[in-house]
Amino acid sequence: MNNETARERLVNGLERSKRLQRESVLDSLRAVPRHEFVPERYREWAYEDRPLPIGHDQTISAPHMVAIMTDRLVLSQGDRVLEIGTGCGYHAAVVAETIDAGTVYSVEYVPELAQSARERLDRLGYDVHIKAGDGHNGWPEHAPYDGVYLTCAIPELPEALIEQVVPGGRIVAPIGEQTQKLLVAEKRADGSLSRRIDGRVQFVPMRGG
Ligand code: SAH
Repeated sequence: MNNETARERLVNGLERSKRLQRESVLDSLRAVPRHEFVPERYREWAYEDRPLPIGHDQTISAPHMVAIMTDRLVLSQGDRVLEIGTGCGYHAAVVAETIDAGTVYSVEYVPELAQSARERLDRLGYDVHIKAGDGHNGWPEHAPYDGVYLTCAIPELPEALIEQVVPGGRIVAPIGEQTQKLLVAEKRADGSLSRRIDGRVQFVPMRGG
């Protein structure tokens, strides 16, 4: 099966699962060539719904997880989004497709991953700005963001990230240590968060701090 057919089959499966509320997220998954983001030797599994190793003890998340997190951010075209944990850049590319003319900013702890994601996303034509560093402080220079999400797990949301979201904006993050839950938070006009939990998840822990 070629990549296009395999990708179509994967996305159709996600569509049937009925866990997504926004059609735009499915369109984004149909557009992003996931096989370009996984190491050569894992390419044959690029369109299986599972995480895969990307080196430096890190993984690219399973497609359904990328889809659910992007869906819960409730993004619009033209939005500005902050990602913590670029990894190989796949999730950032899916978000970039969803917000079209908007911009993704992403912070990655491992300098080598930041550099290879930057090269890959440039080559594929995605407008994603990547900084190597510790995401605990977000990226204040480009704040505020319409949405913020983390692809590594933390015990509690850092205050800096809450500050960098617009009122009405959302934060999606895996919260916890050994066992984790997906937090979907919306910032109220007074700066406080309304929070809900959207299932159990499994992410690598956030480093530094
Ligand atoms: N979204 C990624 C998944 C990456 S896995 C993808 O599509 O490939 C989580 C990433 O978070 C790893 O690359 C890891 O290095 C990074 N990370 C861990 N701690 C971090 C921190 N404090 N700041 C920024 N990135 C961090």
